[in-house]
Amino acid sequence: MQGDLGLVLNPIGIVHSSMKDVEDPPLPDRPAEVEIYAQYQPALLRIEENSHLWLLLWFHKSNRQVLVGAPRRLNPDLPDYGVFSLRSPNRPNPIALYLVELVSRQGNILKVRGIDAIDQTPVLDIKPYYEQDIVFSPRTSYIRAADRTVRHNIMLKVALRHHQEPCRDANLAVRMALAAEEYMGNLNQPELNITVYGSRCLGDTLQGLTRARLANPARFTFRESSQLSRSIWERPGCNLMITARDIEPVGDWHDPDDEDLFSIELSQT
Ligand SMILES: [Zn+2]
Repeated sequence: MQGDLGLVLNPIGIVHSSMKDVEDPPLPDRPAEVEIYAQYQPALLRIEENSHLWLLLWFHKSNRQVLVGAPRRLNPDLPDYGVFSLRSPNRPNPIALYLVELVSRQGNILKVRGIDAIDQTPVLDIKPYYEQDIVFSPRTSYIRAADRTVRHNIMLKVALRHHQEPCRDANLAVRMALAAEEYMGNLNQPELNITVYGSRCLGDTLQGLTRARLANPARFTFRESSQLSRSIWERPGCNLMITARDIEPVGDWHDPDDEDLFSIELSQT
């Protein structure tokens, strides 16, 4: 031990979730309940003025000896990362950090959306999410899921965080981005420029998915059009044009093949 730091953590509450075991498939879209213990309830004063919160939990079932690993369930081909470069639950101090949507508050019960913690997980702390917490275009490790459905769901989550409605063109944007990633790789790479022709919903969602800014560097161009839904993806040596066909998927946006939704033209430059 390195001296007496008075380091004592008392849980302030507990998670109630339908996930009972760490092996259960995560259901992050289903609201979970966070019960705050009665003696801490005064600390919730005015919390409902916030739509989003940072939630710090204690992953009591974690392996605290692990320092290096990879999310191999996501992709068996990933290289190793240090656990401080990952969101792995296994780490020396298994503190979990979640950005959650506060759905409602009733007394000492917070209904939140966005956690995949199991039932009875201890809660360490809650803080409001502030607008100055946003970094619009961070540089991050490119951890690509092997499974296309998983990639689709992750992109949809990013799209909805940004665009905030699951409209038709937000779904179309996710499918365009998913198709573009097959050819271009990481859509946040600094040398990838994106031009979008189409609705504001299409442009807004593609900007959110690619984190491409209008300037510094200028990676994003938008041309509003009611006739056309097209995205052009350019990086040195390569040019990809994805144009939506005039069809409407029946049912789920996961179902149609790229070729049914789009005409895709790849050219070397
Ligand atoms: Zn929209």
